[in-house]
Amino acid sequence: MLIGGKAVGARSGRTFESQNPYTGKAWAVLPDAGPEDVDDAVGAARAALDGEWGATTGFARAALMRRFGDLIAENADRLARLEVNDSGKLYREMIGQLSGLGGWYHYYAGLADKIEGRQIPAPNPNYLVYTRREPVGVVAAITPWNSPLLLLTWKLAPALAAGCTVVAKPSEHSPASTLGLAELFERAGFPPGVLNVVTSDSRETGAALAGHSGVDKVAFTGSTATGRAVAHAAAENLNKVTLELGGKSPQVVFPDADLAAAANGVIAGVFAATGQTCMAGSRLIVHADVHDELVRLVAQRAAAIRLGDPVAAETEMGPVANAPQYAKVLGLLETAKAEGATVVHGGAAAAGLGGFFVQPTVLTGVTPESTIYREEVFGPVLAAVMFTDEDEAVKLANDTPYGLAGAVWTKDVHRAHRMAARIKAGTVWINAYRTVAPSVPFGGYKNSGLGRENGVAAVDEYLESKSVWVELTGGTRDPFTLG
Ligand code: NAD
Repeated sequence: MLIGGKAVGARSGRTFESQNPYTGKAWAVLPDAGPEDVDDAVGAARAALDGEWGATTGFARAALMRRFGDLIAENADRLARLEVNDSGKLYREMIGQLSGLGGWYHYYAGLADKIEGRQIPAPNPNYLVYTRREPVGVVAAITPWNSPLLLLTWKLAPALAAGCTVVAKPSEHSPASTLGLAELFERAGFPPGVLNVVTSDSRETGAALAGHSGVDKVAFTGSTATGRAVAHAAAENLNKVTLELGGKSPQVVFPDADLAAAANGVIAGVFAATGQTCMAGSRLIVHADVHDELVRLVAQRAAAIRLGDPVAAETEMGPVANAPQYAKVLGLLETAKAEGATVVHGGAAAAGLGGFFVQPTVLTGVTPESTIYREEVFGPVLAAVMFTDEDEAVKLANDTPYGLAGAVWTKDVHRAHRMAARIKAGTVWINAYRTVAPSVPFGGYKNSGLGRENGVAAVDEYLESKSVWVELTGGTRDPFTLG
């Protein structure tokens, strides 16, 4: 692990294994941190904040961040392979993510030297009033297994720009790449303690970090259930918190849409990354006039998806990332069938491939009450329902406790913008799906989260505002009145 600039094991000496979901075998051994290691990491982050890092200008922070971004680009292949081994995600997806990851540090480096307070007009001319923007302090960054470095970066890059220090805790299912990133962080030349990483097999370690009294802000990505626990823990310390949680995002297809493009977007939304993305477009809400044709196109492409070794260039879908997730996806497929869904394609495990493979699955005959329509699967499962008019489409799209993302497929520009306004979600794509960028805010409505990551405003999540009053006359005033 990385604590205070040093590579360390857990104080207890305990370790745990990370399993490669393609081979089903352990491939890495990592320190299994406990609360005492979390104490050390938070202490190191505090010391860096009170020391060299706290005195570093935005200009100097920006230079370090640019160097770090360059190092990530130079080492994208290694980082991508660490993630593929840990999570079974495709090399072609992860090399794309990792090749672009440095761009986040470059983007936020551009903001690090532009953090400005304001001079505020006061009603009493005897005062000069201004604000200072100061780092919120020590940030706990807790991440899930599906895109460990991308989701850490959405926290770490704005936190560094703001001048915070960070304790990162990756998922027990995909801990290795965060340690790989930490090595590059040290090589970039940041002072010790600015980034600290603890790895652990125990979910208690995440809880210890989220509720640590030495932490000033918690940035979390993961499931809605864990997010709630994290919010409670942060509330005990009255800490700031950002939560990026689950989703059940709708893909709404109107009859005037380019059906080939829509089918392609639906495939990208739910089968890319084996459906293991928070923004998976797992509910297909399609007009009755084009339902059968669109479902046919999607099922045809689903049937042609090449499952296999995540590292092979021709593979399009890898395994599900871990055993509990595999069991969950198969269980939800059984429930869908028991509740009357029609399996147009897939519907079961993909046999004969080893690893945790599930067939890309297209289900029709689903109702808004069906479990498969309501629950996040986090796997390659599409549930389709029909609509006949725009109001019904909106109602179906919003009939979910989640609100992370969604898409509208239509050539009617009026309808496209009407729908974008009416869908209750943090991101709406028009005739597109699954695009993200450092400059574009991302986050959820409703149970999909709290706050936004990415974009200029994300830096504010890592800043405090301080108001400074300066008396200008040197005089005194009535001490018994409010000035
Ligand atoms: P998870 O909630 O099980 O775990 C996330 C992280 O929290 C892990 O590091 C885990 O060890 C840690 N943790 C566990 N218990 C904790 C506690 N009590 N306090 C603090 N931390 C704790 O999620 P997961 O299964 O790893 O990831 C899948 C989920 O993440 C899905 O629901 C998915 O939708 C969501 N996700 C959301 C986004 C987004 O940006 N909105 C992105 C990716 C994934």
